[in-house]
Amino acid sequence: MNVFVLNCGSSSLKFQIIETDADLIEKDADRQLAKGLIERIGSEAIVTLQVGDNPPFRGAQPLRDHKAALAHVINWVMAPETHIPGISGLSDIHAVGHRVVHGAERFKGSHLIDKSVIAGIQECIDLAPLHNPANLKGIFAAIELFGPAMPQVAVFDTAFHSTMPETAYLYALPYQLYRRFKIRKYGFHGTSHRYVAFRYRKLTGKQRKETNIITVHLGNGCSACAIRGGQSVDTSMGMTPLEGLMMGTRSGDIDPTVIEFLMHKEGTSVDEIFSTLNKRSGLLGISGLTNDMRDLEGEAEEHQDRRAILAIEMFCYRVKKYIGGYMAILNGTDAICFAGGIGENAPGIRKRILGNMEWLGVEIDDGRNAKAIRGREMLISSDTSRVPVYVIPTNEELILARDTVRAVKSLPFPG
Ligand code: AMP
Repeated sequence: MNVFVLNCGSSSLKFQIIETDADLIEKDADRQLAKGLIERIGSEAIVTLQVGDNPPFRGAQPLRDHKAALAHVINWVMAPETHIPGISGLSDIHAVGHRVVHGAERFKGSHLIDKSVIAGIQECIDLAPLHNPANLKGIFAAIELFGPAMPQVAVFDTAFHSTMPETAYLYALPYQLYRRFKIRKYGFHGTSHRYVAFRYRKLTGKQRKETNIITVHLGNGCSACAIRGGQSVDTSMGMTPLEGLMMGTRSGDIDPTVIEFLMHKEGTSVDEIFSTLNKRSGLLGISGLTNDMRDLEGEAEEHQDRRAILAIEMFCYRVKKYIGGYMAILNGTDAICFAGGIGENAPGIRKRILGNMEWLGVEIDDGRNAKAIRGREMLISSDTSRVPVYVIPTNEELILARDTVRAVKSLPFPG
């Protein structure tokens, strides 16, 4: 099957076309046929489109909304000069898989989209006002443009964490608030943590039940996950992606009193404060320079910029704290796995996070660590390290494509 994988953000659309099926999943032989990204939807959009490993096409195009952006992609996919192997018409796309950020308690796995699934995603908008509406725009556009007969599947970022126990997911608030409003930790980046755990099993030959690891996704958004017996038992993001680790522009954990204090001191609205917590905090907020770790490392090294150094130190300190906490929860860990733009490409950050943890059995091999960049999947701990450390480049789209096939063909879902 050729699956069109769609990930819509508030002003962006990412897609991949992946050839996959039960036998290809079995052989780990799925194939990415094309991919692309449209940014700044709503104005002069920036379009990047690529077939296989060919050089990408980049351009600008006025695209007023997600439907116009998806129509643009479909026209490109179908154009005879594009030459995507095995695709000459719309009938060569067999299903669409959508990334949906919040599934709350309702969606514990991936689902074929029908009216009730759409209503369920709409019900979760309260919990994910920044994300679910954009995901829905993608779903509505795809139903319209691919036609009602095309199977569409929703894969939820929260689903992998639905196995967390109450002790981990409840906030210590009056219990009625959970009962009435479902206020609790849900966790995100589930498809990434799930993919990393799956690759860990492939690398080590372990079974799902033997998968007791800590996965750390460090990108613009960051989260850590404690996995026991192949299932998420705790994760750092919360009811929304704002909780937990320090991120590119998000604060991560803070005392909620800060919000009320700021409202009084600055006379700002709650919305404005949440905008600060989501968009102007984290690496950007502390450094006052950028949310991009590459640039921060450059500033720290070339100009010894004090706040760039501080932002990096705080970022690593917090990841270390979560890893230490999860080691305690899991009674030790069989491995630590890094993923995400920073986790996959920044040896200096990994070293800072895991340095000085020899007592806990973690020893980084500097030579291996330096080589683990640009998509290389490898072990970066020393041979004497009691806890192996891996870099595992994430591939959320592959999980989306595979779950889409499983949902369409009613195949069993692994965790
Ligand atoms: P993601 O959200 O997973 O795409 O990750 C994006 C982030 O990864 C960027 O904002 C950068 O901060 C970081 N990143 C990418 N490449 C590097 C690199 N070579 N060194 C340090 N950080 C990087």
